[in-house]
Amino acid sequence: MLLALFAGCICGLVVPHLGIDPSYFKPLGDIFINLIKMLVVPLVFATLVAGAAAVGDVSRLGKIAIKSLIYYTVTTVFAVSIGLIVANILQPGSGVEISQNASNTISVAPPSLLSVFMGIIPTNPVKSMTDGNMLQIIFFAVFLGVAISSLGSKHNHIHQFFDSLAEAMLKLTSMVMMYAPIGVFGLLTYTVGTYGAEVLLPLLKLIMVMFVACIIHICIIYLPCIKYSGVPLKKFFKELTSTILVAFSSASSAAALSSNLQSVQRLGASRPVSSFLIPLGNTINMDGTAIYMGVCSIFAATFFGIDLTFDKQILIVIIAMLASVGTMGVPGAGVIMISMVFTQVGIPLEAIALIAGIDRVLDMMRTTLNVLGDATGALTVSKAENDMHPIQE
Ligand code: ASP
Repeated sequence: MLLALFAGCICGLVVPHLGIDPSYFKPLGDIFINLIKMLVVPLVFATLVAGAAAVGDVSRLGKIAIKSLIYYTVTTVFAVSIGLIVANILQPGSGVEISQNASNTISVAPPSLLSVFMGIIPTNPVKSMTDGNMLQIIFFAVFLGVAISSLGSKHNHIHQFFDSLAEAMLKLTSMVMMYAPIGVFGLLTYTVGTYGAEVLLPLLKLIMVMFVACIIHICIIYLPCIKYSGVPLKKFFKELTSTILVAFSSASSAAALSSNLQSVQRLGASRPVSSFLIPLGNTINMDGTAIYMGVCSIFAATFFGIDLTFDKQILIVIIAMLASVGTMGVPGAGVIMISMVFTQVGIPLEAIALIAGIDRVLDMMRTTLNVLGDATGALTVSKAENDMHPIQE
């Protein structure tokens, strides 16, 4: 996988100079993404139903849910704050010279917060599945799992059915991952070839600030959490290498979901906890996206000469936290949700046109962090529940 990453980067830098269109490599990546997307809905549905049914009593499920929500909220608030602090210090928007292409602004209206939260309850769960609406699928699956567990032992077979389906989907994940190196190579050749150095250089400072903020977040939040769970750091990163590479090259946390779930279970995370927390966190726990919102708000405000007072920055923390919950795990979702933050604090939406050109690179970084946050969360909550298992070699 690492070889594929480097080969993809080098190939992406070289092919445009040979007159080869980088988009020739795109199908290699698309095959991979589609294979992985094929797994997401059945895997999330089966693992959540089986997980909720296995927890048995509703009060244990409630405890796991509360601990997960506390983890999500605390880490996300830290993420936006770190993004804001680092950007305030390093000022990525100062001295930037790029033409403001206002005609390029996005035409998508940001969804309202109320609609994000009201949209969680599905009116038709089958439609939620065909639409791939993760929050609705999660809502239905958890309730179904609880209902199954309350049926008692006479109906054990339905529980076993979902258990076996989840197992089969994880097995399928391992099979799909055999194709991963080719997929990662295709995705990176296309991305590097398309967004070459010319596109990235004018906003290099913004990219660097985002990178620094992500590293700080990993160091002060994730590393202590991993240590707390008792998993050796080296083991953690080794086990998660393929998950990280899938997230980084695809810029989609949904694409990395199945391999993330498999990895944390191998690292000893409790089954009920991980099968609840990983799919849920995949949609609602997005620390990378939250950092991005903090960094880009300061960047855009400096660029347009807007003074972001302290109270406005507090408002950014709150809105960014909620907006990251509503962000889907697909490429480019964050750039639409950030318009919600910009609108609230009076930053012109033209700012999005500035960021859009390099958004793919920022997206790769934030998606990696989003996925790492879920993995760390699964281990932390498993430990807090006293339900860590031995690491599988
Ligand atoms: N691409 C990100 C993800 O899948 C979401 C975002 O655009 O911020 O996690």
